[in-house]
Amino acid sequence: MKNVVELAPREERDGPREIAPEQWQRFERNVAEIFAAFGMDLDTPGTRETPQRFLRALFDATAGYDGDPKLRTAFPSERPDHVDGRHGQIVEGPIGFFALCEHHALPFHGAAHVAYVAGEEILGISKLTRLVRLYARRFTVQERLGEQVADALVDLVGARGVAVHLEAAHLCTQMRGVYEERSRTVTTFWRGLYEEDESLRREFLAEVRDRRR
Ligand SMILES: [Zn+2]
Repeated sequence: MKNVVELAPREERDGPREIAPEQWQRFERNVAEIFAAFGMDLDTPGTRETPQRFLRALFDATAGYDGDPKLRTAFPSERPDHVDGRHGQIVEGPIGFFALCEHHALPFHGAAHVAYVAGEEILGISKLTRLVRLYARRFTVQERLGEQVADALVDLVGARGVAVHLEAAHLCTQMRGVYEERSRTVTTFWRGLYEEDESLRREFLAEVRDRRR
């Protein structure tokens, strides 16, 4: 039994991104040119620093690429070996998240519910929130976000089953385009025991329904 696991995807171990000062300056000029051409008056007290603030905000919103070293610790499961933990699912949620869709670089945001059936290890509850945010704070799509969270849980703690439910509103469709102001996109992802066991899926979805009220 191991207590420390490495987060699988390679990029998580590469550490924080580094943007050189001259890059920031070039980016600011580029953003200023775009904002001005689109109609922003950049010569006011409120907007003079806007390109810089926009870039900083975008950098923060994509901090998932920096990885999260705190995710590497798992704990041995406290479930005694002789107990059949088949239905002992751990459900966490709603976990709020904000992501950027890779098609438009505009936000999609919503709530995640994550459940797993522990193997030999469990992950602290706050780590599930960290896990969702690690993959949400990127340029991504809802489908990949769910797959990555599910796969990471299998890799991190050897979960025997994982369920992920994502419900999100996409600003790229709400702010423009078809103006679907109230639409929500729901996706579910199953791994291991959840793929085989319908009662586990039902139990999880009922739990999600209750918590969304
Ligand atoms: Zn989009």
